[in-house]
Amino acid sequence: MNFSADVFLNHLAQTTPLPYGIAVERAEGVYLYAPDGKRYMDLISGIAVSNIGHRHPAVITRIKEQLDKHLHVMVYGEFIQSTPNLLAARLTSLLPETLNCCYFVNSGTEANEGALKLAKRYTGRTEIISCKKSYHGSTHGSLSVSGNEIKKSAFRPLLPDVRFIEFNKPDDLKHISERTACVIMETIQGDAGVRVPTKAYLQAVRKRCDETGALLILDEIQCGMGRTGTLFAFEQFGIVPDILTLAKAFGGGLPIGTFVADKKIMQCLTHDPPLGHITTFGGNPVCCASALATLEVIQQENLLQVVDEKGKLIEHLLQHPTIKEIRRIGLMFAIDFETAEQVNRIVSLAKEEGVICYWFLSHPNSFRIAPPLTITTEEIQEACAAILRAIEKSLH
Ligand code: PMP
Repeated sequence: MNFSADVFLNHLAQTTPLPYGIAVERAEGVYLYAPDGKRYMDLISGIAVSNIGHRHPAVITRIKEQLDKHLHVMVYGEFIQSTPNLLAARLTSLLPETLNCCYFVNSGTEANEGALKLAKRYTGRTEIISCKKSYHGSTHGSLSVSGNEIKKSAFRPLLPDVRFIEFNKPDDLKHISERTACVIMETIQGDAGVRVPTKAYLQAVRKRCDETGALLILDEIQCGMGRTGTLFAFEQFGIVPDILTLAKAFGGGLPIGTFVADKKIMQCLTHDPPLGHITTFGGNPVCCASALATLEVIQQENLLQVVDEKGKLIEHLLQHPTIKEIRRIGLMFAIDFETAEQVNRIVSLAKEEGVICYWFLSHPNSFRIAPPLTITTEEIQEACAAILRAIEKSLH
């Protein structure tokens, strides 16, 4: 084994001057274990990935079964493979009937890249409308439609013809027009610090897209897969997107994303030009096995029923006079404080207490909590007590 900080810092590309930096030897359920025996509670699920906990036994079994059959055999879209078939059948059976065709890719940003290309190709239009403070990924297309200017300016020129509107502001919907290929938005804005729109707003977005012929892409890469208490967050708003993007928790711990649409939309990627969107590893059978097991676990363990109850318990336990606001939907939390400095102190003191909380990309005054949906009442109590100790110590 090699847990050398020197190798990590010098031979693995770094993304931040201050990496969180704990060493992980193994992970199980809500826990991560360091080589020195220290145990951490992962209250962020590897950033909204481990929704059914780390190494769920059903996931491990399905992966092992697939390992014994075959790994990669061909690029996406050419060979008939059982596991991607099973996953596509299962996923589309859980979605409204217009979301009946899945394109499997390798990550969240790729799912959005595919969705944006599909919308441009299907409508023959070029304008893309996105929301301020959104996050859709780090590759050029997804970055172009993400709202955080500080993260973008060094990489210009980016995609042309992208226009930003204010999230949850009905007035701005007038900018969606017959020129618009698509509107892309997170159903719940995640990295802006958990922003939940009103039902009326999302319904107005849907209506405006219908009036203008623009496609609605909902990015549920962070808020999907049960995180908000329904399998997909859009279910709570009485609308259906034209294209849905998923990744993160979809793979149960392995890298896979997908964009899902109606077959009549999706089929335009096969002609003019043929091979309009291709990927070598998309739909990798081992990743599909893990995603299939994840969907099965969420259903078989009735995880969705308890999400809101667990969320309410955390909200009830986390009371402290220095908390300015808690924004929550299901088990997706932003906890606001007066200053970013206090948030930094709390995150590092919580680490000492053995609980992993984390920052948001675009909202420095809060930290996030997004525990596995499988977290138990006792684990919630233990974690919240540790966070409260960290908040208290941050004041001294
Ligand atoms: N969309 C949303 C809403 C996200 O939260 C993320 C990741 N934080 C992405 C897209 C990008 O996903 P990935 O990191 O897998 O490319």
